[in-house]
Formats: sequence, C-alpha cells, structure tokens
Amino acid sequence: MTTSAAPAPEVWFLTGSQSLYGPETLDQVAAQSQQVARELGAALSSLGTVPVVWKPVLLDAAAIHRQMLEANSAPECVGVITWMHTFSPAKMWIAGLDALQKPLLHLHTQAGMELPWSTIDMDFMNLNQAAHGDREHGYIQTRLGVARKTVAGHVRSPEVARRTATWARAAMGRHELRRLELVRFGDNMRNVAVTEGDKVEAQRRFGVAVNTHGVNDLVAVVDTVADGDVDKLVTEYADSYAVAPELLPGGDRHESLRYGARVELGLRQFLTEGGFRAFTTNFEDLGGLRQLPGLAVQRLMADGYGFGGEGDWKTSVLLRAAKVMEGDEPGGSSFMEDYTYHLVPGAEKVLGAHMLEVCPSIAAGRPSLEVHPLSIGGREDPVRLRFTAAPGEAVVAGLSDLGDRMRLTLNEIDVVEPDEALPQLPVACAVWEPRPSLSVSAESWLMAGAPHHTVLSKAVLREVWEDFAEMTGVEALVIDADTTTRRFQQELRWSAAYRRLAEGL
Ligand code: MN
Repeated sequence: MTTSAAPAPEVWFLTGSQSLYGPETLDQVAAQSQQVARELGAALSSLGTVPVVWKPVLLDAAAIHRQMLEANSAPECVGVITWMHTFSPAKMWIAGLDALQKPLLHLHTQAGMELPWSTIDMDFMNLNQAAHGDREHGYIQTRLGVARKTVAGHVRSPEVARRTATWARAAMGRHELRRLELVRFGDNMRNVAVTEGDKVEAQRRFGVAVNTHGVNDLVAVVDTVADGDVDKLVTEYADSYAVAPELLPGGDRHESLRYGARVELGLRQFLTEGGFRAFTTNFEDLGGLRQLPGLAVQRLMADGYGFGGEGDWKTSVLLRAAKVMEGDEPGGSSFMEDYTYHLVPGAEKVLGAHMLEVCPSIAAGRPSLEVHPLSIGGREDPVRLRFTAAPGEAVVAGLSDLGDRMRLTLNEIDVVEPDEALPQLPVACAVWEPRPSLSVSAESWLMAGAPHHTVLSKAVLREVWEDFAEMTGVEALVIDADTTTRRFQQELRWSAAYRRLAEGL
C-alpha cells in the first residue's frame, strides 16, 4: 500500500526566546523546555497520540523561518507546538509563521507549576516570562491571521494534555487527508444534489484525490478471487458473527455468503493494490456485481476505510478522517444516514441506518450475519451484518459543499437503546436523541443545508472535529445542548459574511 512506507508521525515542540539573555540563561531555557516537551510527550502518549519531538530553542528570525520550512517539508511532522518560554520579539516570527503550512498549537505554559513565593528574585523573573512572552506571540499570530489552537495551563494539568491530544488527533486526520486516495466505483446517485461537490476544491482544501473507476474494473478482480480464499473467509465469518443457518455451509443460501466473501476479497485487493483508503459505491451502477456490497463495506469500514454510499465521496473522506482521528478512543465511527423518526412528544428519536452499510465498530453486541432482499437496485439479495449501536455520547458530522465553501455541521447526540426490539428490521441501525432536542437539532441542521449522509462517531467528539475544521480552513457549525434556532440562524448569517470576507483577505 502506498501509505505503508510513510515515516511515523510526530509533532514538533518549538521554543521561542532571544539571544540577549546570554548563554547561561539560554541553557536553562533549553533544559526547561526539554522538560516541558518531555512531560507533554508523556501525557500525550498516555492518551494514545503521537510523540512530541523537542527542537533547539529559537533565537532569531532566520532560525525560526528555517525551522518552519523544515516542518513544512518533513513528512513525519503533522503539526507544530510553539511556546515562548521567555520574551521572543514577535517581528522575528513573521516570516516563519507566514511560511508555516502545518497545523499550529500555541501552548501557553510555564516550566514550574508553583511560584516560589519565599525565594522569588529577579533571576526567576528573568527566566520565567511566558506570561508576557506568549502574549507577544498571540499578538503576531492574530495580526497575521494564523489559524491555530490556543491552550493555556501547566503541562501536567489533565485538561492541557487532553486539549493538546485532541489537537494532535485532528492533526493526524488532516495529515491523512493530505495523502488520501479515494476511489469511486461509478458516479453519484442520479439527480441527488448534496452528494455532489467540487473535487478540485476538496483536493485543494484537504489534499484528498477523488477519482472514479468503472465498477467493472472491480468486478474483474472479484471474479478472479480463488475459491480457497473464499473458504477461509467464510470460516472467519462463522467465528466472528452469529451466522444465519441458511448461509452456513450446507445451508440453502450458502452461495450468497460465498459471493459476499468473494466481493470482500476482491474489494480489499483492489483497494490495497491502488493504495486507496476510502471508497464509494452506487447501487444504481453495479456493472457485473451480483449483490450490492454490504458485508464487505461493513468489514472494510471496521478496518479503517472511509466509505460513502450512492457515490458520496465527501462522507467517505470524513469517515476516513474519523477513523484516523479516533486514536485509541473506544466507540467506533460509521457511515450513517438519518433514516426515519420516532416523533412522540418528549420522546423524539432518530433511527439512523442505511440500505446495508453501517460499520460494526459501533455495534452493541456480536453482529448477526444475514441475507434479506433489497427492495431497490434489482440485484440478488445481499448479505449484511445486523446489529444495534451501543448507547452513549456521540457526534454526527456532515460535510456539504455550498458552492463557495465546504461546511462541516456537527450535532452532539446521545445514542440510546431502541424503545423496543426491532425484529423485522433487516439492517444495522443506531437510535439516538439529538441535542438539544429533535426539533431544534433538525431545524438547525436543515437551515445549515447539512447533508442526510453523515459520520456517526462515539470516538471523535466535538472538539476534535472543530480542531480539524480550524486546521483545514473549513467552516464548522455546532448544534449542541445550548443551541437555539434563533441564535443558530444568526450564526449562519454571521458565518456566511465572515467566510466571504475571510476568503477575500
Ligand atoms: Mn443514502
């Protein structure tokens, strides 16, 4: 796979100072900043994110500029943290910050947690100047309009570690999209508007290359899969899922499962050989495929692939980003669609599902593997995993192309147990209560022009998505417990004005 040779990602820790302090003080600055970088690195590694690599203290404009150019060109560097340990006159940072193309986190901290009240003297004051040094740094970042996250507090504070780890996870998602190759099997579903979009703008904004193959290119690979490989995969299915007896060897419909396995093996081979980590399908354009891929898509999503149904490449991109941004967080992420509603006042819920393609990473228990008719598309009955999503806090995220920009809309939700069992529902589903209520959530979502296809994630919550939006220059709108439709409508108008102004600057 083309991504396997990439170096292990890391974030760089840059410390600002200046030469006038003299070598003795600067040695202390270096020692203390190494200590801070080490502590931050330990905290981030305990949260499952990337290593923090300390770089020598920066003392002048040329060194700063050189360091930023190195960050831009280093494939292992996913983002840069800056901290002004002492006073680092900010005109020195103009060229460097202007050149920086990687995500930036401004860490506002100090080496020691406590002031040494009884012994503090002018030496201490000269050494510990971040309180004003970082204010100078904040000024120049704002003056230059530099996108960044600002985090203040001691590095041993759990909140500082959590917020920095959140940023690092978002930076990993951005980094992945810079090199992501997405394959679409066929085009978008005919006449659908929101799944369309500007693929050139997406590549400029995110880096992702979105390209189409005729679905029969895939069929050619599926048809050459060896029977012995199908046998092995069918055994793996039987070990992993509660397989319906009719699908098991000797069952009436065993051949349907074997064809599902064949599709999975062919799809995996096609994606691996092409270096693709995200894809789309379209039930209107299946060429020589006998079933709409259901089980195969579900299992590939569980392995980290991005996916969108009906040619929806934007949601596929988002899901691949989510799979990377999950880090070690549990709960999973899936392609999702707001499907149907429970509208009893006071008990409103969304039932989310898709024709087949819901990722088992969000399942509450062991999925069952079944075959049922698909009332659309006119092909053979497809095999699919059936389950209900595990309850808990989650976010649904949707990307829409407004013509002049991409908009990421987020809704904080609570996945809940269905009110009753759903014995006749032949697909996997998630049931949730949107915050602050179904009506305010849906009214806001509709006013935002947000899509019906989303990523539902229990592992990638609001702040990661917001950091991701900040570092990719994408508008982010949040619908949460505090949202009112009146304020949200105002936010949409202000945001539209801001975005158009910002593009012109
Ligand atoms: Mn759909």
